[in-house]
Amino acid sequence: MKKHNFYAGPSILPEFTKGKTAEAVTNFAGTGLSVMEVSHRSKEFVAVMSEAQALIKELLQVPDGYSVLFLQGGASTQFLMVPYNLMGKKSAYLNTGSWASKAIKEAKLFGDVVEVASSKDANFNYIPKDYVVPADADYFHITSNNTIYGTELLSDPDVGIPLVADMSSDILSRPIDVAKYNLIYAGAQKNLGPSGATVVIVKDEALGKVDRPIPTMLNYKTHIDKESMFNTPATLPIFACLQTLRWLKENGGVEAMEKTNIEKAALLYNELDRNKLFVPTVTDPNDRSRMNVTFVMAPEYTELEKDFLDFATAKGMVGIKGHRSVGGFRASIYNAMPAESVKALVEAMQDFEKNK
Ligand code: PMP
Repeated sequence: MKKHNFYAGPSILPEFTKGKTAEAVTNFAGTGLSVMEVSHRSKEFVAVMSEAQALIKELLQVPDGYSVLFLQGGASTQFLMVPYNLMGKKSAYLNTGSWASKAIKEAKLFGDVVEVASSKDANFNYIPKDYVVPADADYFHITSNNTIYGTELLSDPDVGIPLVADMSSDILSRPIDVAKYNLIYAGAQKNLGPSGATVVIVKDEALGKVDRPIPTMLNYKTHIDKESMFNTPATLPIFACLQTLRWLKENGGVEAMEKTNIEKAALLYNELDRNKLFVPTVTDPNDRSRMNVTFVMAPEYTELEKDFLDFATAKGMVGIKGHRSVGGFRASIYNAMPAESVKALVEAMQDFEKNK
């Protein structure tokens, strides 16, 4: 039976990425060796790294004066590297969920953190709108897509100071205005590749302004100077990321992704708004994530939750159980998710409703 992979991350990847990576596991770039057993300093791997960095710049139209890095330690390490490198005395954060809260916790180790607004009062099911960002903060940190709660900031906010964004779960899903950001980071394991690589896009000029000493490995400058080869990078994950980047370019880039992502999300939200058994957890359509669609059973049907999970599982749906802090369901429909799988989930919801 066909499996429809709705996991939140690690998550679905293009067939192209998996096929090319499988080939390279036995014969990488005609070397007769595995991509796992070739030096990161070999000309073949250096070419992988350079093309991956160049494609990120091309696909996101990154202006001059920015560096693209592939680091390790996940997005979680960026929670601390960002304030370590960019925060003098003060920074501002928007609290839109537990990832944002974790970023705030780390930033507090380095200075004065202004939490400009939080949607915690409603279990993070909306994006706060009316907030004031202090003009003297070094940056304003947002989590553009909140993987657990299914909310997304679908445009780059204008707040008068540079932005920093955790784009772990929506990077490359739509065009963005990189010039508004001092730094963007993303764990690779949703829209790019396997876990193990973290993408950082950083404005060179924003660095070198803090007084504190920064440990070598946690200093962005180290990795810029050595082109992400200061130490051994995550070679296999970066190879896989490159394949996804090539696939993205071949398939029309981020503009084309945005178009299909809008269509896929609409299929699911329209059904959630129509089907009497289910309710979406995010009510404001402007805040609804195109990457993670979260929903619960309608109050009068809560006892059917397990039945629906079993029903959908029997139809090949995988990974639709909601995050433990929210409950219910979550369908993650990243770039690589075909519309057919979204349609299959919608049909499962309709069939389930008919049987009740
Ligand atoms: N930020 C967001 C928005 C996430 O979804 C996740 C993980 N799923 C993280 C940060 C943490 O990423 P990592 O596991 O790579 O540290």
